Amino acid sequence: MSDWKGRVDADMMRTFPTGQALLVRGEGTQVWDEDGNRYLDFLAGIAVNSLGHAHPAFVAAVTEQAATLAHASNLFNTPPQLELAARLKRLAGTGEQGRVFFANSGAEANEAALKLARRNGSPTRTRVLSVNGSFHGRTMGALALTGKPSLQEPFLPMLAGVEQFEPTLQALRDAIDDTVQAVVLEPIRGEAGVRMFPDGFLAEARELTRAHGALLILDEVQTGIGRTGTWFAFEQEGIVPDAITLAKGLGGGFPIGALVTFGAASELFEPGQHGTTFGGNALATAVGSAVLRTIEDDGLLDNVRERSAQIRSAVASWDSPLVDHVRGRGLLLGIQLTAPIAAEVQRAAFAAGLIVNAPAPDTIRLAPPLIVSAAEVEEFSSVLAGVLSRFADETDRKATA
Ligand SMILES: *Cc1c(COP(=O)(O)O)cnc(C)c1O
Repeated sequence: MSDWKGRVDADMMRTFPTGQALLVRGEGTQVWDEDGNRYLDFLAGIAVNSLGHAHPAFVAAVTEQAATLAHASNLFNTPPQLELAARLKRLAGTGEQGRVFFANSGAEANEAALKLARRNGSPTRTRVLSVNGSFHGRTMGALALTGKPSLQEPFLPMLAGVEQFEPTLQALRDAIDDTVQAVVLEPIRGEAGVRMFPDGFLAEARELTRAHGALLILDEVQTGIGRTGTWFAFEQEGIVPDAITLAKGLGGGFPIGALVTFGAASELFEPGQHGTTFGGNALATAVGSAVLRTIEDDGLLDNVRERSAQIRSAVASWDSPLVDHVRGRGLLLGIQLTAPIAAEVQRAAFAAGLIVNAPAPDTIRLAPPLIVSAAEVEEFSSVLAGVLSRFADETDRKATA
């Protein structure tokens, strides 16, 4: 496509910088740009393409459901939405008491969660809490939860009663009291640079919210659907939340989001209190079920754990002075660099045929498809090791110059 950058400049809203390439095709863990350059995709559309690109199960679900019944409105129910709701309840372990609300994105799932939180309100119970540096989406409610002043400031005032605290145990204890409707937390903060809470933080958040009658809502938009090696990240914390929100990996590239509730939180919404035209349509939910079925049938959770260990030992084997440590779980990993060169490393990796990203100045994020193979991890390792050793040589030269 001639002059695609000019067309981006002329036609697209200026919300994002121009993309790095015009991608035209994908297959498995690879994508191609319009010039035929191939890239190894270790970002998966930011933890979205859980089955990689053009997976046969994804393609079959889209084409078969599109040819059967795509959309029917919420005046009707459809078999795919009921199948996906039951599947999500089973995988999340909600038991019979769980319920599912379908939306179309992570932000919308969090909007539903915020309204759920408001339903746990009273004249004196009016606050919803999240942490500084968190990311929960860009719509006004989700943005109020997103603890990034730079994202909020152009759009003030924020929603009343939504507040952030520092992600420390002490700040958590200080923040929670009987005025709190809900605490909303990402089990691992992906956009903040794959940051983990201190040990015991989520367990204490569970105890304190329960003690004060507040809901614990976990934003698993990025960590859910097998990304961290279990179906949901909360399973590794030994806690049961009141609700989780899902999106990214659930549709494997098809837009879908969900709010899943546990226990009494399932009874907070009454008929007519929330809705969406597209949410839970037959097409999106059929694709969601196909994604979950494939992850189960193909044993992809085992693959996530095995490839995660392989990536960690590969990074350790580089013995690079530019790598401090690797954090995260499963296939949501952050490589902490010893210098704020993540954006340059990301660009150099892209030029060398590898897609990763830089959510923070000193962090490279890896979120490959859950189907990534051992050979692809080896390829990733040799490309990124090569890129980093070139940067290390340059740093050396500058130091000795
Ligand atoms: C991406 C993300 C969102 C927002 O999802 P959208 O689909 O972009 O609206 C919310 N929460 C978390 C944790 C995310 O990673």
